[in-house]
Amino acid sequence: MEKEECMKKGIMYLILTILMVFSIAQYVDAQATEADLIIINGKVITVDKDFSIKQAIAVKNGWIVAVGTNADIQKFAGKKTQVMDLKGKAILPGINESHGHTTAFAAVRPPFAIDARYPTVKSVADIKSAVAAKAKELGPGKWIRGRGWNTSLLEEFKNDPKGMPTRKDLDDVAPDNPVILTDWSGHTIWANSKALQLANITRNTPDPDGGKVGKDAAGEPNGMLEEIPAFALVMKAAPLFTVEEIKNIVIKGMQEMNLNGVTSASEPLGPGADQNDFGVRGSKVIEAYRQLYKEGKLTMRVAIPLLYGKYGSVTYEDVMKGSQTYKFPTDVDPFWVKSSGFKIFADGVPLPPIYTAWMWEPYVVPPGNIYGGLVIPGKTEQAKYDELIKMVEYGHERGWQVHVHAIGDRAVSSFIDGVEKATLKNPWPKLRHVIIHGDFIKMEDMKRAAKYGMAHGGMPSVHSLLADQFLGFMGEERSANHLPFRSLIDAGVIISMNADAPSTYPDWRAGVQAAVTRQASKSGKVVGPEQRVSRAEAIRAYTWGGAWQDLMESVKGSIEVKKLADFCVISDDILTVDEHKIKDIKVLMTIVGGKTVYKAQEASF
Ligand SMILES: [Zn+2]
Repeated sequence: MEKEECMKKGIMYLILTILMVFSIAQYVDAQATEADLIIINGKVITVDKDFSIKQAIAVKNGWIVAVGTNADIQKFAGKKTQVMDLKGKAILPGINESHGHTTAFAAVRPPFAIDARYPTVKSVADIKSAVAAKAKELGPGKWIRGRGWNTSLLEEFKNDPKGMPTRKDLDDVAPDNPVILTDWSGHTIWANSKALQLANITRNTPDPDGGKVGKDAAGEPNGMLEEIPAFALVMKAAPLFTVEEIKNIVIKGMQEMNLNGVTSASEPLGPGADQNDFGVRGSKVIEAYRQLYKEGKLTMRVAIPLLYGKYGSVTYEDVMKGSQTYKFPTDVDPFWVKSSGFKIFADGVPLPPIYTAWMWEPYVVPPGNIYGGLVIPGKTEQAKYDELIKMVEYGHERGWQVHVHAIGDRAVSSFIDGVEKATLKNPWPKLRHVIIHGDFIKMEDMKRAAKYGMAHGGMPSVHSLLADQFLGFMGEERSANHLPFRSLIDAGVIISMNADAPSTYPDWRAGVQAAVTRQASKSGKVVGPEQRVSRAEAIRAYTWGGAWQDLMESVKGSIEVKKLADFCVISDDILTVDEHKIKDIKVLMTIVGGKTVYKAQEASF
């Protein structure tokens, strides 16, 4: 009897339990199927493995829960679900800028600084009137910053490719304000006499290691400070922004990135490197990001390779000491603010008048034996090279991703030498050391880069911007193989793409067009057609490639289930529009973690 009762009870419990589990499962299921947001009637360019096209997406808690047809996704609509009808527009994964300086980019633009880029300014005269207006606005004594001038695009130097402006041009309009205007590439500063005077730069100031203080025929400083060690001299005198000011700059930077469809960006930031042309790099920017994260104000994800020592010329000692003393904040969500190893500099840029990108073959113009060189301090080329290898090995041994600015093919080779040596000692998988820029790279080095799982983060817009100029001082062959995206992909290297803002404006549509057409923007000439890539390949580089470089391709970079809901809606179908009109495509909407962070006026959904 007792036994029977017991059994009955047992069975009842069992039935009850089954019912409970069943209803909980149903409840959980109901919760899961009710999405926060469904996006329907889109051309969903998923950038998954097969580059498949879908129609609709369901999002919950900032994550993608389903991708499929309208009918598949309608099932996820509940009472509280926001329904977004794209009316056939294309939607992509959020753009992942694989290298750039969001904060500096904002700091060097209005309202914080003068926009000296072409076509905002077309001549020295234009720059002078902008500086005059700023001096009037700020009053005497205040520092005036600006960014973007490029002598090859200035009216006065059209027929004088070697000509440069001088401090006196700026003295004419702002004698009582220190003025520092960085060129478009960030490798030369044009300063006025007041700035030089406050920085104590005189005829007796020697060139710092790796930099040059420009002098005129009479031996006086002419206002040109070439390469970062040289303009660090003037930056010592300039005030730095506070964390509070930087937060406003970061917000402005993220807004500008968002309106270009950017949802993630890599941004090298100091604990070192507090002295620079923008007054913003450094640990204070990381602190600004941390505070904005805490306040729920981030509208873009950021991956941060750390900068140690002096910006532009980092030593082994800097990396060692910096990494031992600086602690990256631990109270941030790495999906928002992520630490990504560190960044160092191998060489400079391949541009007149400095030609500092380190090449295996000399520059064609100017004639002579100019090869560029490493910007790492050291008495001999060998000592600099050894220092580079040591830094790469140091990072690799500790399991850190090493990002190296390397533009010349010899600088790229040297970096890969370091990765090769380090990997042979410690064959860690998956560190994905990053060649930042990698404009020139030999075929055998592409193969090595692929073998060691390195990422290549180039700027396609630089090809269209500089192709005409490169033909002049690099020669046909090297110009044709400048940024060899086709060969890189074929060699098995994972490529990401970027604008390196503020070097160029963060417009990935222009980047895709440049990579697809290889057309020089000035002459319209196609330079290196064999290096063209498909639209799908360029889009993949701007989305999944950046995510892969961030070691986050499992959670972002494509529109797939269980990935972050980061999207970018565009005005025209990028896969079918005329290839010369890709750059005219507008971003209509940007969504980060399921939240709309930018909506264009013409967006009707
Ligand atoms: Zn950069």
